[in-house]
Amino acid sequence: MKISVAMGDGIGPEIMGAVLKIFEAVKVPLEFEQVAMGKQVALAGEPTGISAEAKSSVESTGILFKGPMETPKGGGYKSVNVTARKMWGTFANKRVYRSLPGVPTALGRPLSLTMVRENIEDTYGAIEHMQTHDVAQCRRLITRPGCEQVHRYTFEMAARKGAHRVTCGHKANIMKQTDGLFLEAFYAVAKDYPQLKADDVIVDALAMHLVTRPEQFDVIVLPNLQGDILTDLAAGLVGGLAYAPSANIGDEICIFEAVHGTAPDIVGRDLANPTALLLSGTMMLRHLGLSDHADLVELALEDTLQSMHARPDLREPLPVFSTSRFTEKMLSFLAVRPAPKGTARMPERMPRREPVMRVSPGPDRTLMRGLDVFLESALPPKVVAEHLMGIHDQLKLKMISNRGTQVWPTGSAFTDCINHYRVRFESDEGVSQRAQLAVLAACADRFTLCGCEWLREIDGRRGYSLAQGQA
Ligand code: NAD
Repeated sequence: MKISVAMGDGIGPEIMGAVLKIFEAVKVPLEFEQVAMGKQVALAGEPTGISAEAKSSVESTGILFKGPMETPKGGGYKSVNVTARKMWGTFANKRVYRSLPGVPTALGRPLSLTMVRENIEDTYGAIEHMQTHDVAQCRRLITRPGCEQVHRYTFEMAARKGAHRVTCGHKANIMKQTDGLFLEAFYAVAKDYPQLKADDVIVDALAMHLVTRPEQFDVIVLPNLQGDILTDLAAGLVGGLAYAPSANIGDEICIFEAVHGTAPDIVGRDLANPTALLLSGTMMLRHLGLSDHADLVELALEDTLQSMHARPDLREPLPVFSTSRFTEKMLSFLAVRPAPKGTARMPERMPRREPVMRVSPGPDRTLMRGLDVFLESALPPKVVAEHLMGIHDQLKLKMISNRGTQVWPTGSAFTDCINHYRVRFESDEGVSQRAQLAVLAACADRFTLCGCEWLREIDGRRGYSLAQGQA
């Protein structure tokens, strides 16, 4: 079986080089097709950072094993890592945290924990706009099919590995629509797995529990951004980013990579630790039915780390890590063991009860109730309201908020305002799109508009949040 391999940027070639040597030593029955992806491809003018050959290779092999890739901060090309995950539909990012012999852990006790991060939606849609000179907006889309997909994968994986508990982390107490949907979909999917205990924890409390009593958790699933942050926290618990592997799981294509980045501070200094990439590689081997090869590599890894970190006196500082010494030790351990037998096979596809990307069945019970207009104005809220009162018979001016806090009809003189308002027009009945557009046009006659959102009632439930302070 052929798989695609991208060496990556920064320390990527150093650690991938080490891992490929180790795989060769255990005679992994895979052909590694090297593909061009990352910084050099992006700088050469391909904005995705993925060359045409890399795209066709990954789409034909279905497996990408990749080193870390650099993303410029602030401006420049978009993250190649995120583009790859999204473009190839890898909706779940599975990260396994396991303390390793010889590697000191933050809490000084063993830990085994699996986290799944939703991989496509959330703020990682990076749908961003400057609304005014001073106001930037990121549109955070969370979808029911996207949530169902990641939750279904999480429960299925948890059931297969014999887990006892699946916990959903979220912030649905504040983001009642978006995180609310993530949580609702979690419990809807949980009903199909009665053998697993399903519960939820608000993400800030989850952070605290993770650093005090992580062993109470088994499998945790999180929205994308919260997952990004808490999975790095979990990496800290098992010894740092150098020990955190990951698998990006899609129905057709899977990407295996370390959690860490390109480590620009240690490039070319023989300090890069290949463990996270190696463990991502053993996740890949297991995914391809090569468990015996994975077991042998992990056995050698445990032995290698233990011997590299051996200190006769535990008060001594850990010896400085060396990539070349690590690789030599791994290879000498493997040299005296027979390579396992076995051939690779593509795993079965995730069971789907019904097509995942779909529209909700049954009649669409959406009622338009009004609109939020975002506008730029340096006038005080009361004066903005005076300009907009009575502009439509059916759609009444209901409230004005500034940065999400209601400032009209009631508010506090102590609320700091900036020159960007949300103005809500609402009706007690359903309204036509034409009526909504009429309000928008009337607002445009009076102010510079920055954007708008329709207010919908869906299945009898208000489909929009109230402003802070709105009744
Ligand atoms: P980083 O993970 O590269 O480095 C953070 C710290 O951890 C550094 O001190 C680094 O030396 C250390 N470190 C990381 N991996 C190590 C390893 N294998 N061995 C020893 N030490 C290691 O994070 P960063 O500095 O914030 O990001 C650098 C670049 O990597 C950025 O361009 C970022 O966008 C990119 N990045 C890529 C990925 C990916 O490819 N999946 C993930 C995260 C960051």
